[in-house]
Amino acid sequence: MPEQVIQPRIRGFIATNAHPGGCRQNTLSQIATTQARGVTDAGLNVLVVGASTGYGFSSRVAAAFGFNAKTLGVFFERPADGDRTASAGYYNSVAFHEAASKVGLYAKSINGDGFSDAVKAETLDTIQRDMGKIDVLVYSLAAPRRTHPKTGIVHSSVLKPLDEAYSSKTIDLSTGEVTVATMDPATGAEVADTIQVMGGEDFAIWVDALLQADLFAENARAVTYSYIGPALTHAIYYNGTIGQAKQHMEATTRHLDKRLQEAVGGNAYLSVNKAVVTQASAAIPVVPLYLSMLYPVMREAGTHEAPIDQMNRLFREHLAPGMTPTLDDEHRIRLDNLELTPPITNEINRRWEKIETANLSEYADFAGFRSEFRQLFGFEVEGVDYTKPTETDLPLK
Ligand code: NAD
Repeated sequence: MPEQVIQPRIRGFIATNAHPGGCRQNTLSQIATTQARGVTDAGLNVLVVGASTGYGFSSRVAAAFGFNAKTLGVFFERPADGDRTASAGYYNSVAFHEAASKVGLYAKSINGDGFSDAVKAETLDTIQRDMGKIDVLVYSLAAPRRTHPKTGIVHSSVLKPLDEAYSSKTIDLSTGEVTVATMDPATGAEVADTIQVMGGEDFAIWVDALLQADLFAENARAVTYSYIGPALTHAIYYNGTIGQAKQHMEATTRHLDKRLQEAVGGNAYLSVNKAVVTQASAAIPVVPLYLSMLYPVMREAGTHEAPIDQMNRLFREHLAPGMTPTLDDEHRIRLDNLELTPPITNEINRRWEKIETANLSEYADFAGFRSEFRQLFGFEVEGVDYTKPTETDLPLK
């Protein structure tokens, strides 16, 4: 059992290690935030696909610790191996299991490729054996690639604009330099591959599998997440390759909504969430500079929300039993309303025009972004003694 002092190994948007104590602390603070908003015993069974980090992890915490929900989590995380630490999502999940078992809450996790038939089969077996039926399916998987379960083809997603090259200010995550990046447009094949990875097909396969096995409870809800963002990010996000995949997800969700209505009187929803610092969002060009502005601007306005705040809103205001979600004209839940109000977007546009390396700290909080990013991996978390050797090889159960 190796104990070691763990220093962050982070380059750009890639971190190759994580701190179990920091991830534990992050988990406990999300649990505390949730409990402070009150706990109801709703008898929910919740399946979260993509349950170990970001929005999926916060969904799991909000459901378990806000509603005493039994949760089954599916994710793809690396356990420790010799001197190599486990990944952050692995340690988050270890801490989640510890906290759940302390209060006698059912929690199980399946660590494997959620795109695969094998992991789906194991999930269905676990539900049948332990839970009965699922009331809420959260689909929050974000991945750079997908091995298609039928063809075996590995599809890789790209983050590119469509049709023509696009230039924008961006930030070099290693040096903190504000530069102008030019991104070439995606080829047709790249767009198709991105839709294969981040579009709706896998969500539909999950819903179909649960329906076929008769594992959705009456009035069950399936929810997945999307992002739209301000005009500033449209060329690279909503009108780019990832946006094409999200539009495919949106169309799929409308179709799944009908299927769930017919089968169990249930619904499928797409929730448009606000931009937050996660492993997935930090990898998108332009977005880290945008986030470095968004956080201080929303904090100044008193409207900043972390993923756990957003997910508490989702569960408490839209998905709680007996509640009918408030939807926009396109049948979407909008948790991004505070991000997209004109005072926020206008202020960001104003700063975006002016920002350059020399005035970075005047218009953006890049140090804050960096720290938030490090915290995702359990570093720079308050209350953790980083000089102390720590056990890295922790069991998930
Ligand atoms: P994230 O990187 O923090 O989480 C991704 C999750 O997917 C992790 O639990 C990971 O283990 C899991 N995963 C990856 N590959 C997997 C596989 N093959 N099998 C099983 N699990 C796998 O990402 P996130 O930012 O929380 O994104 C989740 C969803 O939220 C995405 O749909 C994203 O578009 C959406 N969203 C994100 C933001 C944002 O700003 N981060 C904003 C709005 C919507």
